[in-house]
Amino acid sequence: MSLVDPVQKPKILVSACLLGENTRYDGGHNRIDSSILAIWQVESRILSFCPEVEGGCPIPRPNAEISGGDGDSVIDGTSKVVNENGHDVTREYMLGAEEALRIAQSNAITIALLKARSPSCGSKRIYDGTFSNSLKRGKGVTTALLERNGIRVFNEDQIEEAERYLRKTEP
Ligand code: SF4
Repeated sequence: MSLVDPVQKPKILVSACLLGENTRYDGGHNRIDSSILAIWQVESRILSFCPEVEGGCPIPRPNAEISGGDGDSVIDGTSKVVNENGHDVTREYMLGAEEALRIAQSNAITIALLKARSPSCGSKRIYDGTFSNSLKRGKGVTTALLERNGIRVFNEDQIEEAERYLRKTEP
């Protein structure tokens, strides 16, 4: 059952670190300064979420990357998320993605703004699994699961596109 209040504007799922929350693996954040984000905040649209923390990862935590694939192949069980110490953290990343989807669906969310390049939140390119600061095409685990379920995911470099999509799809 949807928990949406009919008088409220639809929510947008936003990576917590983009809002200045210290949820990054190194205890920092990726706060963005955006007039669009400010408007969404005034409209009470923002639902802040960090899939890695919700999946049980501590702050700080070892850096992790997807080894041999991307978020889609992690969901399909053909690749893993491995941290810089060599530990398999796929379970935590999947739990975080599943919780993101649960929260999104229970709030009738159709759009998300997630941090670029993250193994959870990335949407176009992610780090390539070699811990050498190299990128490859692909999505993070949370992005892949949200998109499989019809939720449009934009990154912070696409916030203007996200705003246009939002206004176009709203009645
Ligand atoms: Fe930010 Fe996503 Fe990483 Fe959490 S998992 S720190 S929200 S990029």
